[in-house]
Amino acid sequence: MFSQVPLRISKATTTFQKCLKCSINQVRYASSSGSGLYQYDLVVIGSGPGGYVAAIKAAQLGLKTACVEKNATYGGTCLNVGCIPSKAMLHNSHLYHLAKHGELQKRGVELQGVNLNLPVFMKQKEDAVKGLTNGVAYLFKNNKVTGYRGFGSISGENQVTVKKDDGSTETLNAKNILIAVGSEVTPFPGIEIDEETIVSSTGALSLKQVPKKMVLIGAGVIGLELGSVWSRLGAEVICVEFLSHIGGLGIDMEISKQFQKVLTKQGLKFKMDTKVTGAEKTDSGLKVHVEGAKGGDTKETLDCDTVLVCIGRRPYTKDLGLDSVGITVDKRGRIEVDKFFKTASKNIYAIGDCIKGPMLAHKAEDEGIICVESIISGHEPHIDYNCVPSVIYTFPEVAWIGKSEEQLKEEGIKYKVGRFPMAANSRAKTINEPEGFVKVLADEKTDRLLGAHIINSVAGELINEASLALEYGASCEDIARVCHAHPTWSESFKEANLQAYAGKAINFS
Ligand SMILES: Cc1cc2nc3c(=O)[nH]c(=O)nc-3n(C[C@H](O)[C@H](O)[C@H](O)COP(=O)(O)OP(=O)(O)OC[C@H]3O[C@@H](n4cnc5c(N)ncnc54)[C@H](O)[C@@H]3O)c2cc1C
Repeated sequence: MFSQVPLRISKATTTFQKCLKCSINQVRYASSSGSGLYQYDLVVIGSGPGGYVAAIKAAQLGLKTACVEKNATYGGTCLNVGCIPSKAMLHNSHLYHLAKHGELQKRGVELQGVNLNLPVFMKQKEDAVKGLTNGVAYLFKNNKVTGYRGFGSISGENQVTVKKDDGSTETLNAKNILIAVGSEVTPFPGIEIDEETIVSSTGALSLKQVPKKMVLIGAGVIGLELGSVWSRLGAEVICVEFLSHIGGLGIDMEISKQFQKVLTKQGLKFKMDTKVTGAEKTDSGLKVHVEGAKGGDTKETLDCDTVLVCIGRRPYTKDLGLDSVGITVDKRGRIEVDKFFKTASKNIYAIGDCIKGPMLAHKAEDEGIICVESIISGHEPHIDYNCVPSVIYTFPEVAWIGKSEEQLKEEGIKYKVGRFPMAANSRAKTINEPEGFVKVLADEKTDRLLGAHIINSVAGELINEASLALEYGASCEDIARVCHAHPTWSESFKEANLQAYAGKAINFS
């Protein structure tokens, strides 16, 4: 049974907390559905990474669980039109770029007549999406989660109505409801997206031909990934960014500057501190009107054949019936929840992109799991948003976690910096991928790791070592004293920590 001591269901556990966590996994939920009062212990609306993971976890812990999904396939934005298709295209466009621009030939791989077969390129992406979305259906079956295909809306405090494609409806009674409806593309006022020539990220994942000239509105994470894809495949890409840096919020400025230099070298063009004021279709193509972010007389018109609008995403809560049960949203349309992920309505919870916090798949997943555990135990869940990593899957990749230098300065925290260039890392040198560096930030006095910022070919993998260290409150010395396999990229992380704590790295001075 649970301890009387208040439990924090935390990702970073002490031994004490770990024991309590184990006990959660052992306790089977006393299912209310057997009493005939409710059909389900939990109905989840939405099957994205937040919803499907929560549904599986709930079923594994003994809750009779259903998941309602309006789309034909499970997996949400992430699996269908987000993380998965974009990463397939990033990987394959990188291979094409290596072959097309002599990088493979430099390594002794002789190729002749390198051409792009766009339909085959797209098919590999579609196969990846299909495999993974079918995988969710398979996991639901194995874990006894009942799937309902249709649009779910809340029709009472313990009731979800599912509207099916044929117009019929079915009502599900649930002891608890979890809203995991995710997000949608934020429209650009005055620019109509047709998903053919003026596209959102969704359209950019399925273009039928390589654009000659693409104007990308917004040089954040998603824009830079998709801009990179089409640039590698042959498009001239011009990124228009309102801010004076690329990579979005939270990126360390030193990394952002280096990142912009690398992408510029790859052929992407940037118009920084610039705002788009409109776009129009003409007989001779698309015209995008821009001017300085602060206004003035710097007006310009950019000609192109494709516009990619990537200015962010917003919660998707349309027709969900929130008002009917008194659930409130904030100014940005995000469902308001308390620390239990509970909405203003008793027994209705919300997680993922439709609530506050970074719009990331792994954040949605973690929230799904701890929310379900907390519904069962009644204990307060805990997630440290400072320990949620961000990754941009360009080449090189960019990844970060914890505080940036700018944040530490703003918060008045005294810190020290450890850096290690990839040009001095034996693995990176061996395979000729020397671009980038690792930078760690640590508390000046205690040596505790406060942030890690990486730009290199495998930053998205390396950052997970930093996540573990940050969650467990490791010092730079702790990390530097851990034996790392050789030759690996992760030795660069060890060396950056060594530099932070001992003042000097071994393989670079
Ligand atoms: C191009 C792109 C690339 C991305 N790349 C990454 C990445 O590399 N890494 C990363 O971490 N994140 C990435 N993201 C963000 C990531 O996809 C989201 O953060 C994540 O999918 C959010 O998960 P979620 O479960 O909250 O919502 P979603 O994935 O949006 O899922 C919500 C689901 O709910 C369904 N739904 C909505 N309303 C209803 C209703 N009323 N009834 C029934 N069903 C409903 C929707 O159809 C959808 O299937 C990317 C996003 C995009 C667009």
